[in-house]
Amino acid sequence: MDFDLTPEQLSVRKLAKDFADKEIAPGARERDRNETFPKDILAKMAPLGLLGGPVPEKYGGIGLDYLSHALVTEEIGRADSSVRTTLSVQISLVELTILKFGTEEQKQRWLPRLCKGELIGCFGLTEPEVGSDATKLRASARRESDGWVLRGRKMWISNGSVSNLALVFAQADPTEGHKGITAFVLERATQNYGSQALHGKLGLRSSDSSELILEDVCVPDKNRLGEVGDGFKIAMTALDSGRYSVAAGAVGVAEACIDASIAYATTRHAFGKPIAGHQLVQELIADMVVETEAARLLVWRAGDLKDKGKPNTRETSIAKLYASEAAQRAADNAIQIHGGYGFSDEFPVERYWRDARVNRLYEGTTQIQKLIIGRFATGIDAIA
Ligand SMILES: Cc1cc2nc3c(=O)[nH]c(=O)nc-3n(C[C@H](O)[C@H](O)[C@H](O)COP(=O)(O)OP(=O)(O)OC[C@H]3O[C@@H](n4cnc5c(N)ncnc54)[C@H](O)[C@@H]3O)c2cc1C
Repeated sequence: MDFDLTPEQLSVRKLAKDFADKEIAPGARERDRNETFPKDILAKMAPLGLLGGPVPEKYGGIGLDYLSHALVTEEIGRADSSVRTTLSVQISLVELTILKFGTEEQKQRWLPRLCKGELIGCFGLTEPEVGSDATKLRASARRESDGWVLRGRKMWISNGSVSNLALVFAQADPTEGHKGITAFVLERATQNYGSQALHGKLGLRSSDSSELILEDVCVPDKNRLGEVGDGFKIAMTALDSGRYSVAAGAVGVAEACIDASIAYATTRHAFGKPIAGHQLVQELIADMVVETEAARLLVWRAGDLKDKGKPNTRETSIAKLYASEAAQRAADNAIQIHGGYGFSDEFPVERYWRDARVNRLYEGTTQIQKLIIGRFATGIDAIA
């Protein structure tokens, strides 16, 4: 793997960094306080191509390689994890899944509008009673003459209530177990699914999290993604893509923690010198730097494999697990360095800490990542 970024990669990273510094970071605290969904930011990102990064140009994206996709995602994550989550769902879970599993007609129908931000997508796998064990979905898909009738609930769905397109997974044949799970793309304008926003979250407050309500939603068969029974495989493939994006975003949070900590520690004085001059404070910063760089290299390794079209489930899980845990530790160190001020939203580090928490939960908890990594190591599937 070549560690030198190409001119194109440097240029797209700069584009994302400049945009994040100018348009995303300044309003992050207010959006967090008011739980404001970043709709206006998405509108500004679309013309830059940032809503469809890795999607090929012929479908409305800008055809970024996966490493570039991580560079962009890290920069957005450095500024605001809520915006980053919104994008991760739109791009990595929805667009890239339609790109991989959609028919030509489906790609033409949905991808250009998703990349322009005319459609906001959500990904509905989790249910009120089913999370990690996604083989046990309860939402059902009943075959009707020329289509399907979907019934059930989806829980914790990012972008859910602001979405006008939902990629949902439902059980079409319970006798087949997880091999009955089937994927469908619902358009709110015609399939009229319901949603209910969730409030009171620890973090990611300006990202929309919702319950999706499927009450006998009629879906034409042309909105089925993949074959009947392919849904579980499609969901797991989507999560490989989503976890990569979560990992890159977590590196961004960790980097933001380092920046904030250095800025504070070099200006705050205690015992006659800047606190950055105290060895134990430097240790906190050094730990953050080492873990952040290790996390970034793990993300780049997974991205390199994706760019080469090689299997990367193991490497993506390792990157997601390590980066999300490292970001949490970095945010904790950053609060420590800020002392009492770290406990207030006068400084951004308490938001980094709250926002970093969910990376260890969604798209497969830390425990689930360990089981995936352990399965590769031992050959024994402890999840099944
Ligand atoms: C802010 C937010 C946004 C989200 N966005 C989306 C979204 O857009 N789309 C979507 O589909 N979902 C989304 N989720 C849901 C998320 O993916 C789930 O919360 C996650 O997968 C865990 O599922 P669960 O909450 O049901 O926990 P459970 O599966 O009930 O797990 C509870 C605990 O048990 C542990 N556990 C479970 N099984 C095992 C095992 N075999 N071995 C060891 N430990 C185990 C877990 O690690 C966890 O610690 C989101 C969640 C949050 C909080």
